Amino acid sequence: MAHAVTLIPGDGTGPELAEATRVVLEATGVQFDWDLQQAGIDEYEAHGNPFPEATLESLLRTQVGIKGPTTTPVGSGFRSVNVLLRKELDLYSCIRPCKSYEGVRTRYPETDLVIVRENTEDLYAGIEFEQGTPENARVRALLAELGSTVREDSGISIKPISIFGTERIVESAFDYAKRYGRSKVTAVHKANIMKFTDGLFLHVARDVAARHPEIAFEDRIVDNLCNQLVSRPEEYDVLVLPNLYGDIVSDLAAGMIGGLGMAPGANIGAKSAVFEATHGSAPKYKGLNQVNPTALMLSGVMMLRHLGEEDAAIRMENAIASVIRTGDKVTYDLKARRDDPTAVGTIEYAHAVIEEMNS
Ligand code: NAD
Repeated sequence: MAHAVTLIPGDGTGPELAEATRVVLEATGVQFDWDLQQAGIDEYEAHGNPFPEATLESLLRTQVGIKGPTTTPVGSGFRSVNVLLRKELDLYSCIRPCKSYEGVRTRYPETDLVIVRENTEDLYAGIEFEQGTPENARVRALLAELGSTVREDSGISIKPISIFGTERIVESAFDYAKRYGRSKVTAVHKANIMKFTDGLFLHVARDVAARHPEIAFEDRIVDNLCNQLVSRPEEYDVLVLPNLYGDIVSDLAAGMIGGLGMAPGANIGAKSAVFEATHGSAPKYKGLNQVNPTALMLSGVMMLRHLGEEDAAIRMENAIASVIRTGDKVTYDLKARRDDPTAVGTIEYAHAVIEEMNS
């Protein structure tokens, strides 16, 4: 039976990346019943809403989506589609495998990490009080009453981390480790400084770890982790992090495996899952058929696994790995020199992957 999947091309380079990914997914032989839906800046400009109700309804129905990146203009009233999506579907777990493939230029060829980032809490919860506003003054007055003074000219962001939120993200990390044969989970925090938020995260992580004795567990302070990741990445396996550290360490790890064009991701909730690359819409490359679709294709591989199509996932990942290893029919960012005239376009790379899969 065909899998019902919501396909959101997004904007910027999103549509060309989504098309390259769709054709490769279809070439695996798995049957998809695509429900094409829109989101992003083009949709906003055309109809005034970057995240239409129909797109949300489709995701609620299919419970599985694959999405190209969407632009969030800085300093406008425009709300991030990604934030809305995570909130509406409670996609609390962001899973970002970061694996070095042979043929990609990287100083870290041994890297094979999985980052599990909490998606709903922490400084990203959106609880902010602008400097100079009456609300800010009330928060400062309350803090003063509680014995903490904050300078009058401060902006204030609140960092909530709950037992509930931590338990489910750490469970999600252990679940991933078990399902995909990983041996260790590392909880990342700054509990030495933020005792009641990161301290709670660490405490709860330890409790959850005690329920999974078959998987090793350790913790690292986030600054030390960054240092160790770039000196001994092979020592790390699954990392579980609160939202902000997860965001930053994801980009660090993407750099370690050859850049944003290589880093896939999944946002998973209790009921639904949306698969998308770590990178953004790279708008300056829009319509040029140049950018690397690997990150979205590998997100597609994650989606195949989520749908129980393990055999197709292996074939698709192996074909991508083989095209990268050979290095002929790859996009500019995977060439030794970015101006290499032998680089192929986004869709030609997809065709090379299909050819490899069928060979
Ligand atoms: P970006 O990831 O879009 O691009 C930064 C640079 O990385 C690009 O200029 C390009 O050189 C490189 N790059 C990114 N993807 C690539 C690919 N597939 N192949 C080759 N090179 C690639 O980051 P940005 O410029 O900071 O963000 C652009 C827009 O995307 C912003 O509006 C941002 O809010 C949005 N964004 C969306 C998502 C998402 O939809 N999930 C994620 C991050 C950023």
